[in-house]
Amino acid sequence: MDTSKKISLLLIAIMSFLFILIIANVIYNFRGYGLASIEKKARVVAEIVKHSLTSHMINGVMDNRKIFLEQIEDLENIDEIWLVRSPTVIEQYGKGFNGETMRDTIDQKVLETAKEQKVINERLFGGSSFRITIPYISSSEGEINCVSCHNSKDGDVLGAISISMSMDDIKEVGINTITNTAIIALILMAIILVFINRVINPFLIIFDAIKRVMKRAQEGDYTQRIESTNSKEGKDVSKWINSFLDKLENTLQDIQKEISVFLTNKKAVVEDPLINVNHAVSNLSCVYKFRKTIEHDESLEQIYKRIGHVLENRLNIKEFNMFEVNQNTGEVNIIFENKPIYCDPLECCRANRTNTVTNSCQFDEICSKFKKVNKEYICIPYTISHDIELIITLTANTKEEINVIREQIPIIDDYINTAKPEIVSKQLMHILEKSARSDALTGLYNRKFLEESVQTIVSQAKRSEIQYGILMIDIDYFKMVNDTYGHDVGDEAIKVISQTLKENIRSSDVAVRYGGEEFLILLYNCDPEFVEEVAQKIRIAFAGKTISKNNVSFSKTVSIGASVFPLHTENFWECVKYADISLYEAKNTGRDRVIMFSKELLEKSNINENY
Ligand code: GH3
Ligand code: MG
Ligand code: MG
Repeated sequence: MDTSKKISLLLIAIMSFLFILIIANVIYNFRGYGLASIEKKARVVAEIVKHSLTSHMINGVMDNRKIFLEQIEDLENIDEIWLVRSPTVIEQYGKGFNGETMRDTIDQKVLETAKEQKVINERLFGGSSFRITIPYISSSEGEINCVSCHNSKDGDVLGAISISMSMDDIKEVGINTITNTAIIALILMAIILVFINRVINPFLIIFDAIKRVMKRAQEGDYTQRIESTNSKEGKDVSKWINSFLDKLENTLQDIQKEISVFLTNKKAVVEDPLINVNHAVSNLSCVYKFRKTIEHDESLEQIYKRIGHVLENRLNIKEFNMFEVNQNTGEVNIIFENKPIYCDPLECCRANRTNTVTNSCQFDEICSKFKKVNKEYICIPYTISHDIELIITLTANTKEEINVIREQIPIIDDYINTAKPEIVSKQLMHILEKSARSDALTGLYNRKFLEESVQTIVSQAKRSEIQYGILMIDIDYFKMVNDTYGHDVGDEAIKVISQTLKENIRSSDVAVRYGGEEFLILLYNCDPEFVEEVAQKIRIAFAGKTISKNNVSFSKTVSIGASVFPLHTENFWECVKYADISLYEAKNTGRDRVIMFSKELLEKSNINENY
């Protein structure tokens, strides 16, 4: 119900209450006045009758009292008048000429109590009357001595006079007065209602319109407007509110449009655009801060770690892993692991292969590579560059949980898209750095890398008392390969020895292409026995390989010289030289063998300048 109707109803209720109050008051007062005036009249008549009868008695014309009473009865509004004799008077003088005995209990009561009685006989419809019965009391005082004639004493009741008067005239006047008062009050109420309506209705209409529009705005609908009203104040207020709503709606739309360019996560959180804009700005601010932070990160690993932290802490995703796939080589790296991995990332990943989101809720066992471990999962592929694909695998125990996580995917998209340029640039830097320190033909580290790493190796060896095995490896009679089969085949032999080296060392070891067909291996944390063991393993493995190129197949051998840093010398480059001396010893003593450095070899080399 609108306010205007509410206020009208309230006014009508108040007016009705006042009306009833006024009418009730008029009725009450008028009745009281009517009764008082008729009682007064009746009392006067009764007194007159009483005194007249006394006069009749003194003058000895008591027998004429009937004529007198009939004349009194003819007076206006007097219905009846009668006399009652007390039992002592009846006893002394008889019942009187028309039987002046008690008519009813009221007469009896007055004779017995000597107190006057009043009876009001009111009827809404039909005649109403007022009756008063006054006692006639014996008195010996004053001019008239009752006791002289009556067998009575002072205070005895000699009789009573009853007068019954009609109240119809007063009732009629009362009804007329009440009717007139009611008509006047109703007219007044109508005038007041019309006046109030005229004055406050425009304000109530505008108030209702504001209430409606603001309620919708509070629910998030800013499209509603206030219709103009006739009053000037109403027009002004509606104009101000409408222009404010226009401004708010347009500004929100503009902000939303501007922001949506930067965010994938455009999903409205609630119906209210103001809250959505606030949410979008907050998302944008978070993504912007994230971008600023990763711009200053030093490595790709740091960026991946930061993405992982965003997923864990900001998006509250508890189970996920991230992989980086090199599309050229098929190489897969685990870049963030916070839960057990339920699939072999080296196996053909469905999300990577199809480049679409793989969701276990869409189809049972959608990815055949995912282990049957009662887990739901979503795998999202992100193409970072032509070569690099990022796969994020989110897992949960139930479909409901995974659906909640799925809602977060647009936010993850925003973060990954923001990080993309940084990942690409860090990847490029990584490739550049790697190419500057690696050999193009074999993919092994080059001499520059070794020179740059020496400082770290030496300080680590000193700090942790770790020994490094140094192997100098040279292919036997390699020149012959070039001369016999050509440079291409020679290159192939170099690739085969490089591959053999990679296969026979640990990830903590470092293989360096030291010269043309000369290689240096740094074996991390090795004692001399183990160094020799690894060297023999390499020698035997290479000798067992077949080099095939340009329709020719052959096998070759290597000679290996070994030393241990800092066991043999605390000078790293000197230790490299000792390995070289050992290599030459291997060459000189028949090739296809491993020689470990010894003091004797050093003495021998000092004597023989050829070393
Ligand atoms: P030795 O058993 O004494 O080592 O005999 P060798 O013939 O192997 O002699 P040496 O180690 O001095 O041979 C070096 C040769 O390696 C010279 C050069 O032609 C060849 N060589 C160096 N770098 C490359 C390369 O990148 N490709 C090819 N095909 N040959 C190379
Ligand atoms: Mg050689
Ligand atoms: Mg050589």
